[in-house]
Amino acid sequence: MIDRSTPALGDLFQDIILEHYKRPRNQGVPEKSTVHVHMNNPTCGDEVHLYLLVADGVVRDVGFEGEGCSISQASISMMTQLLKDQPVEQGLELAERFKEMMRGDADAARDKGLRDARALAGVSRFPTRVKCALLGWDAFEKAVEEAGQGSDAER
Ligand code: ZN
Repeated sequence: MIDRSTPALGDLFQDIILEHYKRPRNQGVPEKSTVHVHMNNPTCGDEVHLYLLVADGVVRDVGFEGEGCSISQASISMMTQLLKDQPVEQGLELAERFKEMMRGDADAARDKGLRDARALAGVSRFPTRVKCALLGWDAFEKAVEEAGQGSDAER
């Protein structure tokens, strides 16, 4: 299989991305969920079904099914790791931080709070791939909106 999705991101980062792509975390439909969203990225053909179990403003469980390029799928896997057992508000802050990183913000790229997702910092140099990396986070924000757990401050 030709992988055209990890251009010149650096070997170490590429390893982390491929590792998540090959062994996605939290893949599958959780036993219980309170919200489910489906999103796709037509420019690349990436797709995700994201399931969240939200209770008392906390992401108690998260799972996904998806297909597409390694950047999109690795990004979703990294995101689910970050979201599990976190307050929704914290998850939204991470989403914002991740978007800053995708806009090339160097501080965001050094933020340890993003854990493995920092491996995707180099994607910011490839505008067409940014959408791939953001797919999962966009799905999360939509899920929060649909779950009615979001902050009104941003709107
Ligand atoms: Zn993609």
